[in-house]
Amino acid sequence: MKFSLKNNFKHFQFFYKYLGWRIVAALGLSLGVGVLDGLGLALFIPLIQLVVRKDGEALAEDSDAVSNFILNTLEINPTLLNIFFLIFLFFSLKGIMKFFESYTRTILMQIFMRKIRFETLELLNNYSYDQFVKADAGKIQNTLSSEVNKLNMANRFYFKAIQFFVLILVYFALALGSDWKFTILVISGGLIVNQAFKFLYARTKYFSRQLVAKSHIFHKLLMQKVSLYKYLKATGLLSTYSSKLKNNINEMEFVQRKLGMVDAALGSIREPISILVIFGAIFFYVQLFDEVVGGILLSLLLLYRAITFFMAAQEQWNMFLGVSGSIENIQEFTQDLSRNKEVAGNLEFPGLKENIVFRNLSFTYEEKNLVLKHFQLAIKKNETLAIVGPSGSGKSTLINLLTGILKPTSGEILIDGYNISDFKPNSYRKKIGYIVQDPVIFSDSIFNNVTFWAEKSDYNLKRFYTAIEKAAILDFVDSLPGKENSILGNNGINVSGGQKQRLSIARELYKDVDLLLLDEATSSLDSETEAEIHMKLDKLKGAYTMLIIAHRISTIKGADRIIMLQNGKIEATGKYSELIDSSASFRRMLSLQEL
Ligand code: ADP
Ligand code: MG
Repeated sequence: MKFSLKNNFKHFQFFYKYLGWRIVAALGLSLGVGVLDGLGLALFIPLIQLVVRKDGEALAEDSDAVSNFILNTLEINPTLLNIFFLIFLFFSLKGIMKFFESYTRTILMQIFMRKIRFETLELLNNYSYDQFVKADAGKIQNTLSSEVNKLNMANRFYFKAIQFFVLILVYFALALGSDWKFTILVISGGLIVNQAFKFLYARTKYFSRQLVAKSHIFHKLLMQKVSLYKYLKATGLLSTYSSKLKNNINEMEFVQRKLGMVDAALGSIREPISILVIFGAIFFYVQLFDEVVGGILLSLLLLYRAITFFMAAQEQWNMFLGVSGSIENIQEFTQDLSRNKEVAGNLEFPGLKENIVFRNLSFTYEEKNLVLKHFQLAIKKNETLAIVGPSGSGKSTLINLLTGILKPTSGEILIDGYNISDFKPNSYRKKIGYIVQDPVIFSDSIFNNVTFWAEKSDYNLKRFYTAIEKAAILDFVDSLPGKENSILGNNGINVSGGQKQRLSIARELYKDVDLLLLDEATSSLDSETEAEIHMKLDKLKGAYTMLIIAHRISTIKGADRIIMLQNGKIEATGKYSELIDSSASFRRMLSLQEL
């Protein structure tokens, strides 16, 4: 078994980070198992001698050192019955110890998995949004699901290998006590053999990394296949797309075969080689020390056990290396997530009282073109502000900056004088209702969709009905046989885009929000539905501070103020009627839409 200390320590640190002192306790139990087993075995020597001796012969003084030591320490008369009893005692104690050892391992595994799952979920929560956008979704998905499961295996293999290694040490120690010359010969043989296996271990590690990379791709392709299923099906592209997936599956199979081949090779050469080592040691023993083979009986027994565990440890170690790519992957993943944590303030958000001010705000995604340029704007509490402008003019970016998921490149956004990044992100964002073009619908009941899994108390039900009434979806819900318990999404009822969007709006209204942000919320709906929803939204005027990005200008006629964005700057601002008088580009936009 290759025990590159540096590498091994690195892996140990990884597990230690999650399990701490518990690892040491588990290893202590393994050690106990080994010691008890070795002591029990050692007593077979006097037992055999007692059975084969002729009457009247004294128990030989040349009996084995280890067993003599046990009998002398315990002050036990070496009768057949006594030794029987002692052996039985040692093996029973070993059994008890083994029970605790195995059970501890199961518990440690659970703790390890829970900690790592909680950690990754928590890190993902705090991941900065601009990094998330750049990240590989397949990798995230794969890491959080399959890769975390593989760590479970890594944990098991690693500690089995270490546990066996501890046992090997115990047997070696006992064998050294019994016949050090023979033992050293066997250990030297083992070390030489181990060097020969290094090459195979390196292959396993290499293929393990490849497997992780390929399974990231697999998850990415699979996720897209499921989420874009309708489009791919309708356009007959499913099979073409599938061939990409199939290629990837074939590649993974290839890597897995290679891993299997290395493992099979290791497994099959192990036994003949260990026989060679033992025989070689016996040969040198006789040659070098000119001694009889009979004296090495106990060490042979112990070393045989040691070699059995040596082989088992190698097997576990190689299996561990086969999933060690997953450890590297998760380490990289958690490092990336911790490094790119969202910068968070620690003020509790007290609610919007006076105003929101964008002060000299500039923003760029990629250090080249400024998407927003020295942007200045003040919004009063409960004002309804509409934002219009050509596609790509920075409207959505502006909203994302206001939610705080994007951070200004320079300048700041102040709420009642406080920079929004001084607030705890969640305390602030809880006060934001955010509605985008694609309705956000979870596969669950209407009630849970709107209340976000609130308890179904009378009070919450009342709030639920108020919210769906405000969002103009009450009649529809009432018409369903299952009412608010009807299931949406996958394996649920099919609702139209407009209905989904109203339910998304209802969710935001159910929350107790200050700010309502609508980013082209109705742009994908037919104009009748759009007009209807906007009529309902008009009723909310004055109850919330609303920022409405609208595609069709007709829908935001009633806004307190309209700003027209062009290339990241405010081109014109005023009420609808004022803009018609003052802004030529506004008039141009309007006339294009009226065509
Ligand atoms: P609008 O909502 O007005 O259509 P956006 O705010 O979405 O415009 O985008 C403004 C500009 O920023 C566009 O030129 C767009 O290409 C660019 N942009 C948007 N999102 C990103 C991103 N994640 N990375 C790089 N550039 C982006
Ligand atoms: Mg947009």
